[in-house]
Amino acid sequence: MAKPDILEAAERQRYARHLALPSFGPEGQERLKAASVLCIGAGGLGSPAATYLAAAGIGRLGIVDPDVVDLSNIQRQILHGTGDVGSKKVDSARRSLDDINPHVQLELHDTAFSVDNAMELAAGYDLLLDGSDNFPARYLCNDVAVLLNKPNVHGSIFRFEGQVTVFAPHLGGPCYRCMFPDPPEPGAVPD
Ligand SMILES: [Zn+2]
Repeated sequence: MAKPDILEAAERQRYARHLALPSFGPEGQERLKAASVLCIGAGGLGSPAATYLAAAGIGRLGIVDPDVVDLSNIQRQILHGTGDVGSKKVDSARRSLDDINPHVQLELHDTAFSVDNAMELAAGYDLLLDGSDNFPARYLCNDVAVLLNKPNVHGSIFRFEGQVTVFAPHLGGPCYRCMFPDPPEPGAVPD
């Protein structure tokens, strides 16, 4: 008996280029649709990451951000536009991402990622995407990933330099704290 179609007709049309891509194909698309990501932050890192995840067809996408859109940030925070200045980032993120791909199940968390909620928030997702802009949140994201045995994709930028690292504690790999055991003194390193 043929298995039921996981992708709707409209999705097969939307993802046609993926479906034709060798070693991705329908199997890759179905796995992406079955997957969930929690994006910490909807700023300079979270914006492009969430945009591409949604466009590519991630099944469920959570975003945690307590902030409001600021005009001086939208030169890089491409989830948000001029008309969104002053709005909650989670609201403008929802508008953008719903338009980019209505097939994605969005879960917007209008709160800071903190010790009070991090474990509970992260538990519901397959992978953590650390787009945080401060060291406490970065270490928290790492520690939660280690405790919950989930992959942690970490990004950071400074001026013209960028870094991206995939930490895989679920595979026994090292974590952010293994590389940088001690958080810098507050104010010693720019966020
Ligand atoms: Zn470690």
